[in-house]
Amino acid sequence: MSAADPHWSLAFEHSFAERLPGCYQPWQPAPVPAPRLVLFNRALAAQLGLGEMEESALAEFLSGRRLPPGARPIALAYAGHQFGHFNPQLGDGRALLLGEIRDPTGQRWDLHLKGSGATPYARGGDGKAALGPMLREYLMGEAMTALGIPSTRALAVVATGEAVQRERPLPGAVLSRVARSHIRVGTFQYLAIRDDLARLKDLADYTIDRHYPDLSEDPNPYLALLRRVLERQAELIAQWQAVGFIHGVMNTDNMSIAGETIDYGPCAFMDRYDPATVFSSIDHQGRYAYGEQPRIAQWNLVRLAECLVPLVNDADEEQAIALLTAELNRFPAVFSEQWQRRFAAKLGLASAAPTDDVVESLIRGFLELLQAEGEDFTLAFRRLAAHLRGTDERALGLAPLPASWDPWLQQWHRYIDGRNEDPQQLAARMDACNPIYIPRNHLVEEALAAAQFDQDLGPLRALLERLQDPFTARADSFRYSQPMPTEWGPYRTFCGT
Ligand code: AMP
Ligand code: MG
Repeated sequence: MSAADPHWSLAFEHSFAERLPGCYQPWQPAPVPAPRLVLFNRALAAQLGLGEMEESALAEFLSGRRLPPGARPIALAYAGHQFGHFNPQLGDGRALLLGEIRDPTGQRWDLHLKGSGATPYARGGDGKAALGPMLREYLMGEAMTALGIPSTRALAVVATGEAVQRERPLPGAVLSRVARSHIRVGTFQYLAIRDDLARLKDLADYTIDRHYPDLSEDPNPYLALLRRVLERQAELIAQWQAVGFIHGVMNTDNMSIAGETIDYGPCAFMDRYDPATVFSSIDHQGRYAYGEQPRIAQWNLVRLAECLVPLVNDADEEQAIALLTAELNRFPAVFSEQWQRRFAAKLGLASAAPTDDVVESLIRGFLELLQAEGEDFTLAFRRLAAHLRGTDERALGLAPLPASWDPWLQQWHRYIDGRNEDPQQLAARMDACNPIYIPRNHLVEEALAAAQFDQDLGPLRALLERLQDPFTARADSFRYSQPMPTEWGPYRTFCGT
């Protein structure tokens, strides 16, 4: 392909590759026999400034069959704690960074292929991806984005025309992913474990330049980097908790320094409220259960802080550790504030103070009620707003509140009535932050099965349409708001797909 290809309109830059030698290996995508564009994210393409292209050309470029002009694919190296066990050598086993593109606002984005063949970091894996899980990542990223939660996004899913061998042969695919960057806690760990202080400093400086340029003015930019990453993570996890998102594999190599949700594997949304909820089939101990996510985020941040010790003060390790520890100890308070702010909004309890004991006890009381009654987490908040409106919204799947909610409702009314807000307006404000449509596990599976095995994208597109506008109840969408039928569970998700 010549550099003058008229079809591919985005120029590539390679700042990561240029500034961080030793953190990757150049590598080429595996041949793809018969690429076919299955899903293409037009909205994202437009946002990036990618011009109109033939489907066949998109399928070739976004499967790795042809490299877009200017792409210089590399497999990124990283280390990581997986389920608490350190592995000094991970990396993109089946993924390649093609380079960075800039959108019309100047924002830099990584463009990355996943499922593009085994790399030097494949550790015996086949380097391939099956269509179902790649469609799942597409769907989840779009759902999170529409919910206002920072996330990597899929630009396309291209079927390869090749079978990949799992428990049975499955159709293969390549996902193209757009991210603020692919720098992970594990990227820092990769250099720290090798005592490569010069490169570690280069990585920290690069991260600051790329993501947090204001920190370069800080008297101790590396300490400030931990503080900023901690704040971003605290906010991100609070957002996950507020919609019942369970990542499922919060290993340090799956935690983005830019604060995006990344590496959608066995993730799923909680249905009935229970902090012990785990969907991943390999998470036997419940390490990454819903209620554990804040604690695990802090644990991962401790691993990042360990890497930063020599940068914070190389001459006085004790002082560096004391400074970093003081930052880490802020996590529970920073998280709680974010968490309370979001749950207060969900319950219509706007509060002036950053943390408020009455609000806190109303939130806790509500969650205890949901857990005791086995209520659907997502719908509970919408039912509360419907109750406030005084309308019968059973047609939307919003059942009236049972009498067992009365004691809590009285306390809630005491709070909101005292604020003299019009109930209709308050209900509308609550609905604006409480989704009615989430990627319900049974709907996701139904849509993926149709797309994978019947080449029928209808159910997937219909689901995506609801998920892209998750706060607006639609009269024609009863089945999209309904919880998983009881005969359907228990739901299990899988990694390494
Ligand atoms: P995950 O925790 O799912 O993000 O993946 C953990 C590691 O396994 C990453 O380094 C992946 O690149 C690698 N990996 C997962 N599946 C494959 C595969 N089929 N072939 C090669 N590497 C893989
Ligand atoms: Mg990963």
